[in-house]
Formats: sequence, structure tokens, C-alpha cells
Amino acid sequence: MTNVVKATPKALQDAGDIIRKGGLVAFPTETVYGLGADALNPQAVARIFEVKNRPRFDPLIVHIADFFEVEHLCHSPNKKAEKLIERFWPGPLTIILPKSKVVSDIVTAGLSTVAIRMPAHPVALNLIKEAGAPIAAPSANPFGYLSPTTAGHVREQIGEKVDMILDGGKCPIGVESTVIDLTEAEPLILRPGGLSLEEVEAVIGKVKLSTTDYSKPRSPGQLPRHYSPRTPIKILKEAEFEFPNVEIPKKVGLLAFMHPKEKLPYEVVEVLSSRGDLREAAANFFTQLHRLDAAGLDIIYAESVPEVGLGRAIMDRLRRASGDVKQY
Ligand code: AMP
Ligand code: MG
Repeated sequence: MTNVVKATPKALQDAGDIIRKGGLVAFPTETVYGLGADALNPQAVARIFEVKNRPRFDPLIVHIADFFEVEHLCHSPNKKAEKLIERFWPGPLTIILPKSKVVSDIVTAGLSTVAIRMPAHPVALNLIKEAGAPIAAPSANPFGYLSPTTAGHVREQIGEKVDMILDGGKCPIGVESTVIDLTEAEPLILRPGGLSLEEVEAVIGKVKLSTTDYSKPRSPGQLPRHYSPRTPIKILKEAEFEFPNVEIPKKVGLLAFMHPKEKLPYEVVEVLSSRGDLREAAANFFTQLHRLDAAGLDIIYAESVPEVGLGRAIMDRLRRASGDVKQY
């Protein structure tokens, strides 16, 4: 018996019932699969933390399907927030604003701010409407592991612990949302993600990109080891492509950007985007890392991608997946 169901209108109604009764539903968004509970039901939200083994200091994103929810959940949306919402919602942008009283501490990990987003995926939007409540949802994976971009990833990782998994195919963007803190005069991107820094700056002017202080993460996506496969991963620098006199481990896999730059006898090669398109590369990123991680390798080598547009989100995930933050 599997609890993975195709996201038909009937399945969406059933999923809405489950959420209303305090259950957990995994569902597709345009970024990655989320693990959702009624954001206004603290006990249901507590189950998310248990299933994910997620530390309680790690706040959740609240997903909404109607613009009026912003005023219900937050205080004082400022001009910059209004501009970003108008331009990019529904879409892969999470904004952080002061929270209202209806949002409980378990959702925000005790912070006085709340993260909210209107996802662009029709299954996510319909689920929120069917549930009749905002849905708190982190990525539907065990804490710290690779994010899921297919229903199969969710089933393999936490399948038996959730009430239903809605299958809506592969996530089109493939990396998590961009998180921007709008509570200070100067907007701060806490996590680079599916909406590029350049696109954000075109609408509200200069924003700061969080210079990650790993000793004090403001956003757990900032933890030095996160989004990680079980197989060790090493980012290749150009100079290393010749592998001078190094002992090469037995089973090596490669995550290549456009094409493998040298000819090691790799067991498996996954190419992010043969035409060098960073959007396509982001969409493939977690899916291909899942595949490499399942291939029984000793190590995964990963090529760097250019750090512009969605390349920033990819390199951020890659560095944390490798756990070697000193690499940059
Ligand atoms: P996930 O839902 O797993 O993609 O993680 C959500 C990300 O948003 C985490 O890195 C959180 O720390 C971040 N986040 C959620 N709420 C807040 C908040 N109030 N302040 C700062 N970061 C937040
Ligand atoms: Mg996550």
C-alpha cells in the first residue's frame, strides 16, 4: 500500500480534509515538495518537526493562496514588501515580516517575525484552498538531507510517516524559495533561491546578500552542512581537473555542469544542463544528486557553476551539501 496519490480534484479534497483534521500532507510546489500542516494548529505543526527530525529553533514558511492573508498573518507590510508581492507572487519568493498574534510560536520558533509565501504550483494553491487555512510547510525531507523534487523522493525518505503524498510530477524550479527579510530598513536575502538576486533588485533596488555567519545562523538553510547527500561530495576547482598524482577513490560519480571536463572513469555522470542554462541546471540539481546518492559511490565530484542568477542558489546548496564552507 502506498499513500502516494495523483493530485486529482478528489485527492485534493481528501488532502484538504486531512489538513483540517490536523494531519500531514506532502505536496508539490514549483520549488521543492513541501510537508504541510494547518499553520494555525500548533499540534499539527509539531508533527512536522517530529517527522523531519527538525530542530525546534528552525522556523517554518507559511504558505498562502489569497493576498488578504498577508494582513491576517503579518503586521505592517511595507512598500518594498508590497512591490515584491505584486511582482513575484505567486512564485518562489518568501518574505519575512513582523508576525501577528494568530501565528503561534511553534511556527516561527519563537521569533517575532514570520516567513510567508504564495506558491505558484496549482496543486499547492488548490490544497491551501481546500484546507481553508494557511499551510506551514518546510521541505518534505529529513532535516539536513537533500530536498525532494519528486513524490518518489518523499516516499523513500519519509513515506510511512505522512498521511498522504500528492503526486504532481517533478518540481519545475527545483531549488527552494529565495528568503528575504524585510523587517529592517535594508532588505536582506537570507537564502538565495529560485528567484534571483538580480530580479529582486530590479524591483526594490539594492539588497544585501547575507554574509553567512555559520556560528549564528539566522536561517537554517545557513547551517554549514545542509541539503546533503549521504555520499561525501567534493566541489572541483578548475585546477583539480588534471588530478595530479592523487589517489583516485574506487567509485567516483560526477555532477557536471554542461559536460564532463576531463575523462576520469566515472561510474556515473549526471549533467545539469548541456546548454549551460542555469534555470535548467537548478531544476535538475536535487533530482540528479538523489540519483548519484543512490548509486553506491565512494565520492561525488561536482563541477562549479557560474555564480549569477540561479547559479547563486546552486552554489549555495553545493557548498552546504559538501559541508566544506571554507571552500569559498
Ligand atoms: P524550509 O522550509 O526547509 O525551506 O526552510 C525555511 C527557511 O526559511 C529556513 O531556512 C528558515 O530558517 C527560514 N525562515 C523561516 N521563518 C523565518 C524567520 N521568521 N526568520 C528568518 N528565517 C526564517
Ligand atoms: Mg528544507
